Amino acid sequence: MAHKTYYYAVQAHKSVPVQDGVEFRREVQRVLADARGWSGAGIEFVFSPSTEDFKKAPWKNAIVIRLTPESKMRQLFPGFPQLSVCNMVTRVIHINQGRWDGSLPNQSKLSLPDYRAYVINHEVGHALGKGHSAVNIHSESNKHKKAPIMVQQTLGIGHFLPNAWPTEPELRELKEEMK
Ligand SMILES: [Zn+2]
Repeated sequence: MAHKTYYYAVQAHKSVPVQDGVEFRREVQRVLADARGWSGAGIEFVFSPSTEDFKKAPWKNAIVIRLTPESKMRQLFPGFPQLSVCNMVTRVIHINQGRWDGSLPNQSKLSLPDYRAYVINHEVGHALGKGHSAVNIHSESNKHKKAPIMVQQTLGIGHFLPNAWPTEPELRELKEEMK
C-alpha cells in the first residue's frame, strides 16, 4: 500500500483560552489517528510539537492546523469569515472557532463532536489535494447514502445522511492517487 508521511502542528490563536487550545489539539490528534479518517488510505500523520519538524518533510507534506476566532477570519478572509479554510499557499488550516464551539450554527445535521471530526477531515482533505465533491446534494439518488467528506456539509447535505468521515470511494481514490 502507498505510504505517505504528513507532519502536522496544532496551534490556537492567542485569544483562545489555554484549556480550549489543549482540547482542540487533543481532538485534532484523535481524528487524524482514527482509522476511519485519511489514515485509512495509508497516510501516517505525525504530530509535531513545533513547525521545526517540518524541515524533515517536503513542503506539501506539512500542515499547521490552527483554531482561529471569527474576528481574525474576517481580517484574513473577508469574503467568507464564517467558514473554515485550508490555505494551500501558507499550508495553514484555519478552523473557525465559531463553528468549532457551535456558536455559529451549521447545516450538517451532525452533533458538535461529529461536526468537529467532519471539519478536520474536510480541511485536511484539502491539504491532501482534494477539491470539493462535484455531486449534486439535492439529487434523490443520494437518499440513504453518506455525504462525502468533501461536500461542504457546513452549508447543507441535501438528501445525504450526515457523515463525519471520508467515504470508502474517497479513501480508495486517495489510495489510487498515491500509487
Ligand atoms: Zn472545503
